[in-house]
Amino acid sequence: MKPQDIKNVTIIGAGTMGNGIAQVFAMTGYKVNLVDVKQDYLDRAVGTISKSIDRLIKKEKATEEQKKEALAHINATTDLQAAKASQLVIEAVNENLNLKLDIFAKLEGICAADTVFASNTSSLPITRLASETGRPDKFIGMHFMNPVPMMKLIELIRGIATSDETTALIKELSVALGKTPVEVNDYPGFVANRILMPMINEAAFALMEGVATVEAIDEVMKLGAAHPMGPLTLADFIGLDVCQAILEVMHEGLGDPKYRPCPLLKKMVQAGYLGRKKGRGFYTYEK
Ligand code: NAD
Repeated sequence: MKPQDIKNVTIIGAGTMGNGIAQVFAMTGYKVNLVDVKQDYLDRAVGTISKSIDRLIKKEKATEEQKKEALAHINATTDLQAAKASQLVIEAVNENLNLKLDIFAKLEGICAADTVFASNTSSLPITRLASETGRPDKFIGMHFMNPVPMMKLIELIRGIATSDETTALIKELSVALGKTPVEVNDYPGFVANRILMPMINEAAFALMEGVATVEAIDEVMKLGAAHPMGPLTLADFIGLDVCQAILEVMHEGLGDPKYRPCPLLKKMVQAGYLGRKKGRGFYTYEK
């Protein structure tokens, strides 16, 4: 398959990542099926996309006409069968191995044999997700960053059987979307989280040991390492439960105690202090 053969793309899961991915494809001119389990979730996702394009219009990075066209390209549906028309399917449902395996098993029975399957997983093995499809050579990780319309990177993760052809195809497609693909191999945490999560974890250890306050840790990393935000602020954005889950995947998958989640991080997750989404994490937020 050539990049120009991809005209219709299905995105499964219309949450934070799914709606961003759908927006980027629709604004590039692809026909997009956006699939979720409830019409409410789809309506919310389309509303989010509409507001996101409004912000681009305000910054003069898009026009009303482009917004109209992009929204007209999106078919928001609860019917997974829509994927039949797609040359590429990107799964962006919750980070749950069995849920994702179940969706790919269903897709196997719906999609044409040459349809490429991609997962936006942050931490689950691409090789495992691909293993129960009949097309592990046409299966790849497309790890978009949040917020998708703003962030340039797509970490392209090759499973053990991902072919050179599939990798080249998705690389070219990513460039057509205005993104910068970076190819990596399938090991726990890939590259982005392999390096980011130990930093966040170490910041939590430094806090637990009383090395410095939350604010001081963030300030040191902002001013001392030129990071746009400190690691604890970033952890609150990502969600402390998500950070813990990714660290656990790396701890188990790599078998090295250096990846064990910090006890303070775990305690905060147990308390429900999950970050911005709960109004409280390392910082507290106005509702
Ligand atoms: P989310 O919870 O915002 O959205 C998940 C969506 O999937 C929900 O709307 C849910 O209803 C839907 N869903 C669940 N089961 C489904 C099914 N059977 N069919 C169709 N839809 C279904 O999650 P998210 O933050 O968008 O994360 C999605 C994926 O992207 C995860 O694998 C996550 O690890 C990954 N990811 C997240 C981020 C991030 O910053 N949030 C960044 C990169 C990658």
